[in-house]
Amino acid sequence: MIKQPSPNFDDRKGCDAPSLVVLHYTGMKDGASAIARLCDAAAKVSSHYVVEEDGRVFQLVDEAKRAWHAGKSFWRGIVDVNSHSIGIEIVNPGHEFGYRAFPEKQMQAVLTLCEGIKARYALPATAFIGHSDVAPLRKEDPGELFNWKMLAAHGIGVWPEFKAQDDEPLTFVASEKLLTTIGYDCGIDEDGLHAALRAFQRRFVQHKVTGQLDSESAKTLRAISRIS
Ligand SMILES: [Zn+2]
Repeated sequence: MIKQPSPNFDDRKGCDAPSLVVLHYTGMKDGASAIARLCDAAAKVSSHYVVEEDGRVFQLVDEAKRAWHAGKSFWRGIVDVNSHSIGIEIVNPGHEFGYRAFPEKQMQAVLTLCEGIKARYALPATAFIGHSDVAPLRKEDPGELFNWKMLAAHGIGVWPEFKAQDDEPLTFVASEKLLTTIGYDCGIDEDGLHAALRAFQRRFVQHKVTGQLDSESAKTLRAISRIS
């Protein structure tokens, strides 16, 4: 763990300990530029941790403090996601600069870091979410190449386990209730619902990120909402 203190933090509001962990990608050319930005007082952004592609982990903000990573967000009724979460930036150029697979060493470092956080705050698996989950209309990170399935096998985030009843048909309109149960903000119109669905697919139906309700997404929605 490499200490790289950022001036960009304040006090958590309305809670003492984090109940969520938000995973991001940096979305910049390389890790060094991302860390420089996250430590630049003028940028007014930060995260608690940055995980490099080679597996090095930098700590920028103390876990007790509120880092500035989520922006305008929502999850299960929480609107000040920064106050309630730990933010982890995972180095990857992202969709804008050449989105690519997350190396094995990096994923192992993310797993170890998340396991430590999970134990420190006695968090459930459902506490681990992506930036796009809390801001579906604005964000795509960490994206459809991120290995949520591997993390879930270790209790970091959830992954579907199907039952026969999951095959029951589901209408687009009815999908809103399930997405809301899981935690998503489905917005005020169809665009919002499509965006929430797209964010869900980026995590759980990664080969089919369309924002349209297909039978595989419907089945997966039923399975995930049951364990949410
Ligand atoms: Zn992000």
